[in-house]
Amino acid sequence: MISVAIDGPVGAGKSTVARESAKRLGFIYADTGALYRGVALYTVRKGLNESDADYKEKAAALLPEIKIEPRLIDGEQKLFLCGEDVSEEIRLPEISMAASTVSSIPEVRGFLLELQRDIARKNNVLMDGRDIGTVVLPSAQVKIFITASPEIRAKRRFQELVKKDVETTFEQVLGDLNRRDYQDSHRAVAPLKMAEDAVLLDTSELDFEQSVQRVIELVHTKIDKK
Ligand code: C5P
Repeated sequence: MISVAIDGPVGAGKSTVARESAKRLGFIYADTGALYRGVALYTVRKGLNESDADYKEKAAALLPEIKIEPRLIDGEQKLFLCGEDVSEEIRLPEISMAASTVSSIPEVRGFLLELQRDIARKNNVLMDGRDIGTVVLPSAQVKIFITASPEIRAKRRFQELVKKDVETTFEQVLGDLNRRDYQDSHRAVAPLKMAEDAVLLDTSELDFEQSVQRVIELVHTKIDKK
């Protein structure tokens, strides 16, 4: 099986670029952020608030009741939480922030680790997240770290949210993005960082098609050499 690990900060274009690249390569696309978002949504539905002092203990205690299931439907990953399709709901901005907080809990990371590795055992996969190249799939044949400047990332994320009719401002999006990046890069377990053997892909000056082309080229270069 071939694994392509794609990591990077919020809004670097990881998921859109990874989804399209996977389609053209004939690989499945696995969005691991959705899994953390699913856990976060569960805690929010249970009335927990990520800003509470005891949020992490309470969230960890809920894990035995949580069933997270990514399902491939018509080639698209949908997320099921205890049997319910929550693919839309997990995209709300408040769930993004809660996902970042929930993902710093070691028990949560452990809870989702095998689920992610299992996908890669069974499929040629392009998997995106924050720790795929460093922790989840350290022996992935291809590792790419996608980034772009914070302003460009915030602009892309803002446009995405506006398209979905989510009420927000550019400043709010930029603030959330910086807060989430800081939290993701400074946590003790599996922080966001580039794997030593990853290739850096800065998409600040690239459009969508150029970014996809670059990913596909990188995959071919690495795989054809083996
Ligand atoms: O990629 P996305 O923005 O959907 O991820 C939501 C949150 O999940 C991130 O801010 C990050 O804290 C967490 N995450 C993670 N490890 C991954 C994927 C996502 O910690 N592999």
